[in-house]
Amino acid sequence: RIPASVVHMLAEAARERPEAAAISFEGTRLNYRQYAAAVAALAASWRQRVGPGQRVALVMQNSLDLAIATYAVHALRAQVVALNPGYSARELSFMLDDAAPGMVVHDQTAKADIAACCPGLPAERFIATSGGASFAALAEQAHALPEDLPGHDDLATLQYTGGTTGRPKGVNISHRHLAFNLAQREALLPTQYGAETVLCVMPLFHVSAVAMSLHLACYAASELIVHRRFDASAVLQTIGSRRVTSFSGAPAIYHSLAAHPELPGADLRSLRACYSGAAPLPQEVLRRWEELTGCPILEGYGMSEAGPCMTYNPARGVRKPGSVGLPVPASKLQIVAIDDASRVLAPGEAGEIRVRGPHVSAGYRNRPDETAAVLRDGWMHTGDIACMDEDGYVFIKGRKHDTINVGGFNVYPREIEEVLLSHPSVREAAAFGVPHPRYGQVVHAWVVADPGAAPLVEALLNHCAAQLVRYKIPHAIGFAPGLPKTGVGKLARGELRAVPATAET
Ligand code: ATP
Ligand code: MG
Repeated sequence: RIPASVVHMLAEAARERPEAAAISFEGTRLNYRQYAAAVAALAASWRQRVGPGQRVALVMQNSLDLAIATYAVHALRAQVVALNPGYSARELSFMLDDAAPGMVVHDQTAKADIAACCPGLPAERFIATSGGASFAALAEQAHALPEDLPGHDDLATLQYTGGTTGRPKGVNISHRHLAFNLAQREALLPTQYGAETVLCVMPLFHVSAVAMSLHLACYAASELIVHRRFDASAVLQTIGSRRVTSFSGAPAIYHSLAAHPELPGADLRSLRACYSGAAPLPQEVLRRWEELTGCPILEGYGMSEAGPCMTYNPARGVRKPGSVGLPVPASKLQIVAIDDASRVLAPGEAGEIRVRGPHVSAGYRNRPDETAAVLRDGWMHTGDIACMDEDGYVFIKGRKHDTINVGGFNVYPREIEEVLLSHPSVREAAAFGVPHPRYGQVVHAWVVADPGAAPLVEALLNHCAAQLVRYKIPHAIGFAPGLPKTGVGKLARGELRAVPATAET
């Protein structure tokens, strides 16, 4: 089932299951009739300020208001620009200047002075909300959704990339991309219509939470429970008390849940599916989670530029740990030589992932050069390195730009990190290349160790030596209390510095 747009999905759920629970947030709960009515009322109240084709920035933390605002902007055929309220004035100014929104909605969690980040926008185009459930009151007004809902050709979102490799880029995503990608995801990870309970703890300004929680719940005409932010104890409580069936998180979330003292006693029997994406899921975390909960984690691979879901381990059928699964249907995914994209590689050979299909964006806003660099010959070149096995399962090795070249040998940080993480005293690990006069580059690693762990350098080097060829073994291992992360909790590799000589091995 390919919806015409995400608002059509909401309208359909309101028509077919008006009394069914739709969304809840901190004690406020709306059914689908109320959810659609609130969206309609909010859209009506904004209609004088924003029109089709304009952009509306939502600088908000997770809340009922953010969900309602998102669908209201779609209902107006305007483009949603969801931005992290934790951004500094410098970061926000850059994106707001690029996005040129016609209206900005923000809550008190916005760190920066929003008006100052948008000079030139008149005061009535800024909407301050409580960042809670204030829009829920609109559900009592008898508004209907507009007649002229968006169609496949309308732009739906301007999604800024994670900024993991540099300045975030704004990706234009149309309703066609979103609608097809929802159906593609559904084919690999089927939901039960009217019978899911979806828990959202990932930030809704990130593409993964929007797809795997907000729209997934609406597609299934099921309830979405929104948490303001991730809190491990609250997650375990909610899954048990609300009989959550579907949960999605970045690896860091599973990492902290798997280590939580309340996990072994928690009632997680209602869970039917756990999804992970956005960054590599360490095998050690996967193993621990499944051992303790009995519920599999289905890992997938996505990016802002592709709707976002590109691959998933199928809910039915073979699931391969360490793999991000199979390409979504109605798409093509190839592994091509890094220096010659026309050469498709054989199973087992590592190269760049490229993808095409109805979910792939037409490019970046205001960045013709960067669009041309990634969209070539009808393919989107992802910059990610992977190999495919004989069955078509994709195994991601890392990003092209993070590959370390030690004396001519390619080393992928992820492999070193997996080895370090398999040591019982290691909590987090980051491997990266540093310049070296003889080899060009060598591997350095920062490690976050268990607080009480005995001195580890020798042990870790032996551990690596037992599992890695010589050139992959770190030349230096340093210990840190934590690793630098991006706003969505990905490792910020650009901020890793060489391990100082005093800490060297
Ligand atoms: P930027 O493009 O600004 O550098 P970003 O690439 O992190 O930031 P996103 O679009 O949010 O921004 O993330 C997509 C990227 O995340 C993918 O290209 C890939 O590198 C990484 N990724 C996503 N899922 C996985 C996964 N399961 N395993 C490994 N990497 C993943
Ligand atoms: Mg990217």
